[in-house]
Amino acid sequence: MIDLKQAAPKQISFLKTAFEQDKLAHAYLFVDSLTQRALATAYWLACLVNCTGTKRPDGTCINCERVLSGNHPDVFLVKPEGKQSLSIDQIRPLKEELAKSPVEGNRRFFFIENAQTLTMPAANALLNLLEEPVAPVTTILLTNNAQQILPTVRSRTQIIEFNDLAQANSKSQDLLLYGFSQEDLENLGETAELDKAVKYFYQELLENNDLAVVSAHKLAGMMKNKVQEDYVFYLLKKFCLDGIKQQQLLGNQALLGRLLDCDKMKFSNVSFLNRLDYLALS
Ligand SMILES: [Zn+2]
Repeated sequence: MIDLKQAAPKQISFLKTAFEQDKLAHAYLFVDSLTQRALATAYWLACLVNCTGTKRPDGTCINCERVLSGNHPDVFLVKPEGKQSLSIDQIRPLKEELAKSPVEGNRRFFFIENAQTLTMPAANALLNLLEEPVAPVTTILLTNNAQQILPTVRSRTQIIEFNDLAQANSKSQDLLLYGFSQEDLENLGETAELDKAVKYFYQELLENNDLAVVSAHKLAGMMKNKVQEDYVFYLLKKFCLDGIKQQQLLGNQALLGRLLDCDKMKFSNVSFLNRLDYLALS
């Protein structure tokens, strides 16, 4: 069940205005690192259009309930079911639906979750769907990474960004200042999972927790390239410095010293895992 309260305020007010001015696009690309938030926003729009309550969308009238529970005949959701990718077989039914008029409301909605996993044939099938449709349809592609969407698909959509770009930019700025190149940043990719894993490792190091050895191996297993390895050490140093800034000197100063040892070890070609082990065992 979708929770409308998770919908993003700024984006829903934009969509509401578009709807009220009868200017809803026929295709949107929602770019959000939080899938549930983007999905809730898409369903919020479908509820707005179909709601029979006075305070639209209320989320509680019979129409809203059917939309939210996946039982409204004008609202379709396609997502990779347990599989890694969205196949052409999942897109084909939408093409058949496309020609039909809305069953009840005045607009149909096609939501495509994890659109970055569309296979090439599926993406190509989708292209027709995104051309100006005959019947009133709004297709919303949801993704956490706009760069992984085929440019031909992307260019047919109106892109709605959910992530805080100012925050993302300031992070890139920090990384560039530290010495990462623009190309490194591209190779680094999405870091949410990594950030979390490094944070845990850092906390275990501060607590002298035995689990740090296990986390070191887990982290080493997550590495896809050298840039990510450098990023892990960048983050650990950043956490230490942040701690020191907040007067949490105990532990952070000693750890920072060992992180500087690790820099030297790197230049002597000590492996990434061995450097993490050094931190975990000290
Ligand atoms: Zn309603």
